[in-house]
Amino acid sequence: MTTFRFKMIEEAVKRSAVQVKAPAERTSDYYGVNVFNREKMAKYLPKEIYNAVQRSVEQGVPLDRKMADGVAAAMKDWAMEMGATHYTHLFQPLTGSTAEKHDNFIELTHDGVIEKFSGKLLIQQEPDASSFPSGGIRSTFEARGYSAWDVTSPAFIMDDTLCIPTIFISYTGEALDYKTPLLKSETAINKAATAVCQYFDDNVKKITINLGWEQEYFLIDKSLYDARPDLLLTGRTLIGHESAKNQQLDDHYFGSIPTRVQAYMKDLEFECLKLGIPLKTRHNEVAPNQFEIAPIFETANLANDHNQLLMMIMKKTARRHNFRMLLHEKPFKGINGSGKHCNWSMQTNTGINLLSPADNPMENLQFITFLVNVLCAVQEHDALLKASIISATNTHRLGGHEAPPAILSAFLGSQLSGILDKIESLPLEQALEVHDKSGFTMQGVGFIPELMRDNTDRNRTSPFAFTGNRFEFRAVGSSANCAQSMTVLNSIVAEQLVKFKSQVDALIAVGKPKLEAIYTVVKECVKQCKAIRFDGNGYSNEWKREAKVRGLDCETSVPLILDNYVSEKSVRMFESTNVFTRKELESRTEVYMEIYTKKVQIEGRVLGNLAFNHIIPAASKYQDILLGKLTKFTQLFSAEQVKGLAKYDMAMVEKISKHITAIHESVDAMTEARKVANEILDEREKALSYQNNVFPYFDVIRYHVDELEDCIDDQVWPMPKYRELLFIR
Ligand code: ADP
Ligand code: MG
Repeated sequence: MTTFRFKMIEEAVKRSAVQVKAPAERTSDYYGVNVFNREKMAKYLPKEIYNAVQRSVEQGVPLDRKMADGVAAAMKDWAMEMGATHYTHLFQPLTGSTAEKHDNFIELTHDGVIEKFSGKLLIQQEPDASSFPSGGIRSTFEARGYSAWDVTSPAFIMDDTLCIPTIFISYTGEALDYKTPLLKSETAINKAATAVCQYFDDNVKKITINLGWEQEYFLIDKSLYDARPDLLLTGRTLIGHESAKNQQLDDHYFGSIPTRVQAYMKDLEFECLKLGIPLKTRHNEVAPNQFEIAPIFETANLANDHNQLLMMIMKKTARRHNFRMLLHEKPFKGINGSGKHCNWSMQTNTGINLLSPADNPMENLQFITFLVNVLCAVQEHDALLKASIISATNTHRLGGHEAPPAILSAFLGSQLSGILDKIESLPLEQALEVHDKSGFTMQGVGFIPELMRDNTDRNRTSPFAFTGNRFEFRAVGSSANCAQSMTVLNSIVAEQLVKFKSQVDALIAVGKPKLEAIYTVVKECVKQCKAIRFDGNGYSNEWKREAKVRGLDCETSVPLILDNYVSEKSVRMFESTNVFTRKELESRTEVYMEIYTKKVQIEGRVLGNLAFNHIIPAASKYQDILLGKLTKFTQLFSAEQVKGLAKYDMAMVEKISKHITAIHESVDAMTEARKVANEILDEREKALSYQNNVFPYFDVIRYHVDELEDCIDDQVWPMPKYRELLFIR
């Protein structure tokens, strides 16, 4: 009898690439066709309304109702011309995926139905907030919440629906989503960074944050995936013996892309490019069946919306190609997990990247100023920054042999490190030489360009690495909403820049020349941020020891890391930057704790099911075969002969029993621990109980299951093995 597993393997083996029809035009011709972008607005909106929208986008001024009516009408006309019949607000609740509720454009009149879309519906809607996570806010406030149009992110059409990116907040104004705080943090850093920039250049009026993410993911054949209840329900394999070959030969990274995957990527790219997502790079990643896709960077809010959209399209497209796409940070034990590196930089309205070394001393002092302020911020809030990337899923990846460690540190490379060291040691008089024309030159920063020209220094083990003109935050998980970490990063840097400016201003107030004042505080910053700077191997055990000595945060427990959202230091920082109120932080943290608990709870249940309903029966079946053989032996041979002839069979029967017993005991104990944890009402205490008392059983159970997989008959093993999941494509 063929088992389900073999039937699924057969299906997977037979599959070939789905044909993808390439658009006839060039990319530049169809890029953004499904987006109601500036160009479309100019075409469909009366001039007056168009200007009002642009003002709203650039200066953040609200759009009045009449103007909104005009925009809505034009949007509807365009959408209907494009074949859309429905519209939806699209928001990003704390569930981690996007939420949408489609409404048809139609409205009833005396004479039947007409298509209508008003400014009111465009600007604001009231989805029932009670079904989305809101932490304490749900119990203490009205359940009502509303979604409001984010003018800075253009509407677009997906399938037959006009999608309007929105924020999602409670009726009393608390953020219930990821977008609202991100926008607030962009406002905070804009204000703080602009003020500092104006020391150097009066023309700087605005700072925007650039984000370029790199999305890693796995593709698994649909049939094989369907035969794995753990993948289906938790997104990762809870059991599975390592494949004899996995990534040790490094033959997958940047290798030629498998044809089925190539077709998938092509399809995905057409779809995304039509939606104005500027995808640029695609390649194989290190682990078998692991891939990466990256766009050209955009402003943070838009880039994040695009990443959310991409993840959604990736899932849908995978189905069309008989794949399932895994965004879990660690779907497979023993091979690389997936991250979403977030490349982050600050840019002025005059076109200067503040994290880019320049070729004149003034801009270089500016560059160093921003660089050291970022470092100070990361050092001060390293624990909070870690909280922004931690989750029940990403915790499996952090600290793994291939992933950033669960300790935050910043890599600068030897050249830049040398410059900072020099700044620290050079006395002011030597560092500053005032010249006539350019104003001044600086030893210590003046010579950066020569040194930085070929900054190929790379360190893959660093969670927060300077890569020439940006920081690459590598600890972010593949399934994360980037806004979570970007909000924290923007906010802490904003707080630090405000502090920096007040220190410089204080020196200026007592008569220090401006540049001298800046340099003095920069020098102070260089001294302060030493602990966070680490260019060595972040995976090593020595680093773990040293980080502790340096006073960096080394916590690994998810609930304890999450606590940092509500530490006094964090609350002060978020309130001063106007990004979160204490109440918002408390409720948000409660949501994160709850999500952690639920994920571990579900995994525990699935693992129990797998053990009792799949693994133990399979092992017993094989044991039964062995026992049958042994019975025959005893009938035919003497007891003494059987001992010799069936030595290994007997040992195997015993071994199987040993593992079955261990699995039974551990699953029972885990279930008891779950019961105890479930009784706890406080979300934080419950999460801690899951982390400390339930979670540790996972490894124990897995160990025995994987041992069984390694010794029993392949024919009776019920679920696809790692070699099948990772190598059939
Ligand atoms: P690597 O794998 O070498 O890190 P990739 O090409 O995979 O590089 O990804 C680099 C990412 O960084 C891209 O998304 C790119 O758009 C982004 N990026 C490049 N320059 C900047 C910048 N100044 N600010 C933010 N992101 C940037
Ligand atoms: Mg990359």
